Amino acid sequence: MKPSDNYPKGDLKPTDKNPMASPQHITVIAGDGIGQEVVDATLQILDAASAPLNWVHCQAGEACFRNGIATGVPEDTLATIKQTKVVLKGPLSTPVGFGERSANVYLRKYFGLFANVRPVKQYPNVPSLFKDTPIDLVVIRENIEDLYAGIEYSHQPGIAHSIKLISEYGCNYINTFAYEYAKLTQRKSIHCATKANILKKTEGMMKRSFEQLSTQYPGINAKHMIIDNCAHQLVVNPSQFDMIVTTNMNGDIISDLTSGLVGGLGIAPSANIGQDVAMFEAVHGAAPDIAGQQLANPTAMILSAIMMCRYIGMDDVADTIEHALAKTFYDSKMTGDLNPTSALSTNAFTTAVIERLGDTCPGFTPSSFKPIHMPPISTPSIQPGTCHGIDVVIISDHSPTDIAHELNRIATANGCEPVELFNRGKAVHSPEKDQMISQWFCRFTSKHPPFDNHHILKLVNELSEHYHWAQIEKLCTFNE
Ligand code: ATP
Repeated sequence: MKPSDNYPKGDLKPTDKNPMASPQHITVIAGDGIGQEVVDATLQILDAASAPLNWVHCQAGEACFRNGIATGVPEDTLATIKQTKVVLKGPLSTPVGFGERSANVYLRKYFGLFANVRPVKQYPNVPSLFKDTPIDLVVIRENIEDLYAGIEYSHQPGIAHSIKLISEYGCNYINTFAYEYAKLTQRKSIHCATKANILKKTEGMMKRSFEQLSTQYPGINAKHMIIDNCAHQLVVNPSQFDMIVTTNMNGDIISDLTSGLVGGLGIAPSANIGQDVAMFEAVHGAAPDIAGQQLANPTAMILSAIMMCRYIGMDDVADTIEHALAKTFYDSKMTGDLNPTSALSTNAFTTAVIERLGDTCPGFTPSSFKPIHMPPISTPSIQPGTCHGIDVVIISDHSPTDIAHELNRIATANGCEPVELFNRGKAVHSPEKDQMISQWFCRFTSKHPPFDNHHILKLVNELSEHYHWAQIEKLCTFNE
């Protein structure tokens, strides 16, 4: 799949058919750990609410890895998802020693599910430290790029690199999605949370994209906030937030924090949205510690299914189930994660929700969620830029003084400025090797750019006679 295939080209529509006219088929993956229990509970409630849906049950996760499927997702599951386009999924585990990546991440990447939407809402009587604080916010997490793009490697044992890949295209996509989401669901403000003060190019790109796009959405109050301050503010004053849009890893962490504000992982739903496919799943994992014991809270999965119903246009079914769920909490009926003293089992809680289908919960307003119609996002044109030098990673046990001396000789012979030497990201100025590792970033900057391929190869050839080099990167400037 080309990177650009990860992103929608036009409108995001769940289906061309009117889902109410004929039953919509949904791929159901029960998953691992507590997955079977929470998915069973959710399907029982959907069936009891007469949702016009057909379930197509498929496999993925632990058993598939153990059966030798390296991705954890069998081909027939992928084929079924391509047909149904909507997935209700339990948590998937990767057993130690089988497969390097998570089947969850594989599915998100395979279907280009670029936006992860995590609503955070108070339900009546659900205990939390913030139960008296009005909280109703949505975290929108970029779902494909960042450190989770999975580009990790080692040049030598004991030292590993991971690439934080952020594109303007990906930033524009997720920020546009967030603004469109705010517009459609009548939300008034969005905070973009980044670490742009330190990671100026990568996280800074997300901030710049957010700020540039804000001019197209004058009705929405757009503010940038540094991610660590955002974490602090979420705990001291969560009511100030309406929506948060953020990069992949920040979003992963922040959205677990926000679920803790309103009662924990047991009640945190999510939607993964892509061009053709949408996948609805609880934020929590397989929770093997409580699996098979009727201890799991199915609320996160039920709320994910409610988002799914809204996505395919079944708002009436969604409202009915959400009111029944809220009324169940209103009547103080809960699983043990929320109320250990009078805990209901997973099945008893499910029955309690089913018994309340058709009830209206006093003072409760159901949530809103809709498919987003994305305006076209242009693909940036290729700009080769002007190369003015190279960064070379060398591996050496020599002293900093010896390395600097030898590299400066090579730099001078190749028309470069004195070399800049970095160890663990820190500029090396002293001859002391204290706290240094045997991997060095050496920056060669040409005195007379452009520094073309011919210059680069000549320099690297000379370098190779003295040092083992592991990586070369071109340093470029662009007309931006
Ligand atoms: P994974 O590695 O798949 O993420 P995990 O057990 O490390 O799984 P989670 O499943 O996300 O992490 O949850 C952490 C803990 O929170 C669990 O061990 C469990 O005790 C509790 N928990 C999570 N989900 C639920 C739930 N739906 N109902 C009750 N408790 C839950």
